[in-house]
Amino acid sequence: MNIAIIGSGLTGSLAAISLANSGCRIDLYERLSDEELINRDRTYAITHSSRKILQKIGVWSYLTTNLVPFQYLNVIDYELNKQCQFLINDLNLSDQKYSAVGWIAEHKNIMSSILKIISNIDNINKIPTSVIPNTNNYDLIIAADGSNSNTKKKLKTPSFNFNYDQMCITAKVLLRGIKSNEAYEILNSEGPFAILPLGGDLFQIICSQSIVKGSYNMSQPKSLFLDYLATILPYGIEVDTIIDEPKSFPISFLFNYLFYSGKYIYLGETAHKVHPVGGQGLNLCWRDVDSLTNIISIPILRNNFSIIPVIYSLSRLIDVLLISILTDSLVRFSRSNSIIFGLPRKFVFVILKNFVFIRKFILNLMTNGL
Ligand SMILES: Cc1cc2nc3c(=O)[nH]c(=O)nc-3n(C[C@H](O)[C@H](O)[C@H](O)COP(=O)(O)OP(=O)(O)OC[C@H]3O[C@@H](n4cnc5c(N)ncnc54)[C@H](O)[C@@H]3O)c2cc1C
Repeated sequence: MNIAIIGSGLTGSLAAISLANSGCRIDLYERLSDEELINRDRTYAITHSSRKILQKIGVWSYLTTNLVPFQYLNVIDYELNKQCQFLINDLNLSDQKYSAVGWIAEHKNIMSSILKIISNIDNINKIPTSVIPNTNNYDLIIAADGSNSNTKKKLKTPSFNFNYDQMCITAKVLLRGIKSNEAYEILNSEGPFAILPLGGDLFQIICSQSIVKGSYNMSQPKSLFLDYLATILPYGIEVDTIIDEPKSFPISFLFNYLFYSGKYIYLGETAHKVHPVGGQGLNLCWRDVDSLTNIISIPILRNNFSIIPVIYSLSRLIDVLLISILTDSLVRFSRSNSIIFGLPRKFVFVILKNFVFIRKFILNLMTNGL
């Protein structure tokens, strides 16, 4: 089967490896150089669903040295002064043996490892351009060219999208009073705020806040930003210093009504984009890759490839819809000051604290998807 993939971000690149492993011939189109692809300052939370996919295609062992495992995930609601801790014991039995609730990965490390793997696979041909000369050469064309996909614009595929009235600020900081194997997701009225371990005392801060407040914080010198961080860190955790320049990016939501158009298939952020809360984005993109590989590997469909896009689109609908609704609700829920939401919020924490099976259900949904 001849497949073109447009976009060699983390979704397109993983799709190239996965589909090449199942015997497809891949032309991978990317307009950026490898150096530009690698030099993005992002940090991802990697879940067990991604671990399984990476193991299946044989790249997990190459990436593990770049991953920082965490054993505790603390969820705090500042407004209610409530806290809940997810532990390894809350995972499925088969996931528990990996001794991690999840992993934190820096973009530079995983992107460079994945590009190295691609360079050693014979049936992946990297083409440094954004234009496919002749689309008739391909049985399927995968658009993994990101949330501003030109491919999708050209094909006029309808989608539901909006910008959050929030922006995301990220920074690497040295912290005291926190274990090197714990992560935090803090819900407060400004928006969710994550603390992710990067090894030793180094942590990544991912802070969503209103555009007005975020723009103000970004315009301040580092020392004032440090003071601001000191006011929002949980009690007992202190910030020593900021390692890099804080960065900011807008937050948007995107959901395509269909994940295909003719023989074009939309993968990753071309098809959907969710709020960074809960670190679901990349994991959801990689589950698209797994789903498509499973479908393409069904022998009867190899000779009947025109129905692959439809089956793929249907197969991804529930998982993407559910995670999109969950993450969006979490943001709205945490930012609402309404008394109407106060009681259900308290109720959720009481349930999570006292009912192990519900805590397990939620953690497994967030880590394995549907
Ligand atoms: C500024 C920013 C910061 C982020 N930070 C975080 C973070 O800290 N943590 C986190 O979990 N997630 C973060 N995300 C989200 C995360 O990056 C995405 O979930 C993930 O990158 C999705 O990968 P993708 O391959 O689907 O899309 P992308 O990474 O957008 O990749 C698309 C690729 O397609 C290429 N391309 C586009 N058009 C063409 C064309 N016409 N021809 C050829 N190639 C083309 C682009 O050059 C790009 O390499 C961030 C996103 C952004 C925009």
